[in-house]
Amino acid sequence: MSDGRVDTRSQYGMTEKCGVVGISLEARDAAHPLYYSLYALQHRGQESAGIVTHDGFQQHSHVEMGLVGDAFDEDDIENLNGSVGIGHVRYPTAGSVNSCCAQPFSVSFKSGSLGLSHNGNLVNADEIRDELAGLGHAFTSDGDTEVIAHDLARNLLEEDLVRAVRRTMSRLHGSYSLTIMHDDTVLGVRDPEGNRPLCIGELEDGYIVASESAAIDTLDGELVRDVEPGELVVLHEDGTGYDTYQLFERENSAHCFFEHVYFARPDSVIDDQLVYEVRRELGRKLWEESGVESDVVMPVPDSGRSFASGYAEAANEEGVGIEFAEGLMKNRYVGRTFIMPTQDERERAVRLKLNPIKSTIEGKTVTIIDDSIVRGTTSTQLIQLLKEVGAEEVHVRIGAPPIVAPCYMGIDMASREELIAAGKTTDEIRETVEADTLSYLSIDAVAEALEASRSDLCLGCVTGEYPYDIDGEATDRDVTRPQIRPESTPADD
Ligand code: SF4
Repeated sequence: MSDGRVDTRSQYGMTEKCGVVGISLEARDAAHPLYYSLYALQHRGQESAGIVTHDGFQQHSHVEMGLVGDAFDEDDIENLNGSVGIGHVRYPTAGSVNSCCAQPFSVSFKSGSLGLSHNGNLVNADEIRDELAGLGHAFTSDGDTEVIAHDLARNLLEEDLVRAVRRTMSRLHGSYSLTIMHDDTVLGVRDPEGNRPLCIGELEDGYIVASESAAIDTLDGELVRDVEPGELVVLHEDGTGYDTYQLFERENSAHCFFEHVYFARPDSVIDDQLVYEVRRELGRKLWEESGVESDVVMPVPDSGRSFASGYAEAANEEGVGIEFAEGLMKNRYVGRTFIMPTQDERERAVRLKLNPIKSTIEGKTVTIIDDSIVRGTTSTQLIQLLKEVGAEEVHVRIGAPPIVAPCYMGIDMASREELIAAGKTTDEIRETVEADTLSYLSIDAVAEALEASRSDLCLGCVTGEYPYDIDGEATDRDVTRPQIRPESTPADD
């Protein structure tokens, strides 16, 4: 940023995508539970927050830029009438960073009203948009969510709800977990590869679909199960149950493994696994694959913490006594951007975020555990800092494989040129960040910790081969992008 404001989102790695929720209750208004759910999903998006409800006659909508706590006041919540609704927190992944792309997206059309919340990123949104524009659809944003909404609205003119969703899904290529509200019916949809998480929960007086089970816990509900890849869940309007339809089935799924490594809350259960336990297991495997004896092991807060505790536990079980310590304190009040007037001070930015505890580090050999290295800026600064306060050696262990390629499925990561691991060996990266030793976890170890076959995971950013047909990139499976022909293009067959 040219004004000296440092964007810590890009500086400190990857950014979360979006969080979606949909609720149907028996009698009371859904706005408050939706609002609390969005709080629980805030880590998945901080750019905007929104809720759309339906009172049986009409939609009510409130969508604002900013954090959940800033986007709503009590009056806003009171005005969101109706016992059904959907919500969204957003970090922009496709479309502009402004209020026209904030969600839920809502639209009225000939056969009713639609609200839509989307987590993920479509690969073929432009093709569908061009076709629909050729058919007279007018778009108000450049986001892919509006493309899904228009396509579904069009299909709803000719089909019942389930068939219309199936037809729209057959045209989408890419990653999507959706909560949809058609009049007063709330739906949850997960793409056929299950790239993004989505789960169903039961509340005391209703049902919920949400990106993560932490949203269900917040409402004192019970996690029922994950929505299956390719499944449509239709919540009853009266909040008494739900119907499900397995609309698409693929031989393999393509779950984003980084949900478990980095994005999701550790207290969420995703695809049947508690994220916290997966991270501890990744830490244990890191010790098994590349453990190094040192005086102390410490996490890079916050996400490295569960990895480091698993790593230290596995070391101690083998009789290698390594002290597990919190040697780095995070300043929680540094926002997502802060002002740093000079380049030199920008390079010291890590010190604003993380401060070392000298007595834990001075004169010791130190292992730091992190979940990933994206650009390498933070790691380099951190290692320098630890040496400045007296660490004798600094070993770095990373609980994921090297990130060598960008993400096209909705994670704001970095371009290939910016990724420190693209085109470099581990030793070259080690030299760049000035660590004494550096090791990453293997892909096989990640698959084992997730109790999944490699072929059921998206590994695009660590292999450069993707589970979707992305222009100019290799695929890791047989994928066919749906043929979408703009209406204005004459058929040649
Ligand atoms: S490319 Fe990486 S971050 Fe993106 S969906 Fe696949 S595993 Fe997740």
